[in-house]
Amino acid sequence: MLVLGIESSCDETGVALVEAQGSATPLLRAHALHSQIAMHQAYGGVVPELASRDHIRRVLPLAQTVFAEAGRQLGDVDVVAYTRGPGLAGALLVGAGVACALGAALGKPVLGVHHLEGHLLSPFLSADPPEFPFVALLVSGGHTQLMRVDGVGHYEILGETIDDAAGEAFDKSAKLMGLPYPGGPWLARLSEQGDATAFKLPRPLLHSGDLDFSFAGLKTAVMTQARKLGDQLEARKADLAASTQAAIVEVLLKKSIAALEATGMNRLVVAGGVGANQDLRRQLDAACAKRGVRVHYPELHLCTDNGAMIAMAAAMRLQAGMAEASTRYAFDVKPRWPLDSLQAA
Ligand code: ATP
Ligand code: MG
Ligand code: FE
Repeated sequence: MLVLGIESSCDETGVALVEAQGSATPLLRAHALHSQIAMHQAYGGVVPELASRDHIRRVLPLAQTVFAEAGRQLGDVDVVAYTRGPGLAGALLVGAGVACALGAALGKPVLGVHHLEGHLLSPFLSADPPEFPFVALLVSGGHTQLMRVDGVGHYEILGETIDDAAGEAFDKSAKLMGLPYPGGPWLARLSEQGDATAFKLPRPLLHSGDLDFSFAGLKTAVMTQARKLGDQLEARKADLAASTQAAIVEVLLKKSIAALEATGMNRLVVAGGVGANQDLRRQLDAACAKRGVRVHYPELHLCTDNGAMIAMAAAMRLQAGMAEASTRYAFDVKPRWPLDSLQAA
């Protein structure tokens, strides 16, 4: 079964081919990505209308690249998968429209995929994929959730952010320090030259006794600190960045360990853009090694949005009998779509 996957939920256009044989973990045959970051950077954030228009320009050329790379033809495709939500409505509509048009033209069924399920299953694209069940820490630009994952489609949210996501905390703090958009990777890089103990920043909900997160207060504390520094901000920027990263990482680490203890599981899967953060990886690896817990990450370049994770999620859902691809080519998108509502699907 050859699955073509199309991702267009935000500011990355991603196209990929994943092949599934029997019940073996599906394999990535080729993927291509165009990031719109440079286009949106001038505005300090994603401009939805520009994003949609750019997806339209990019998606077919990316598909051609992917077919050439995999040595396959359009006619070899068995299922066309696309991101149905959550994300920007106009951006989602581009991927959904292209996928359904391709499906209709080829006479092949289509399947709408949940973007976060894509992130969640992205570690299965690595050479050493995890096994179910596991605890998942999903840390992206818009979401921060701890989940109990018993199998494809069996997701229980153990805790989540009550305000900002971890990626948002990185991005907003970075913006306050004058770093380019999206700030997460920039802040992480700057942190390497800073002293993480230089500023005392809050660790929100660290001792709340539950598995929820809150990052809005941290952002405010960073803003207050940046204002206090005034002219000195430039000179102390690396210290402030390192202190901010340390606060975010400590909360993610402690809550992940608490989730492992609460569920009694010995496997942790990290997914989403913030999962690319090296400090988070180092600290999770160290803490989990001590406890005999295996940690799985997506490959670095597949942490942020991509088409491979969408094709993978579709292939795994179909394999597990948790979804059926459809030849009804009418489509809708779901800009808001909670992941745990998928269970019923
Ligand atoms: P969602 O998946 O919730 O809809 P999204 O698609 O925008 O949101 P992702 O693409 O998974 O999110 O991740 C993007 C986020 O990851 C951004 O907030 C970005 O700053 C952050 N990020 C990427 N690399 C790093 C890094 N090395 N350190 C910290 N944050 C990072
Ligand atoms: Mg993005
Ligand atoms: Fe994402």
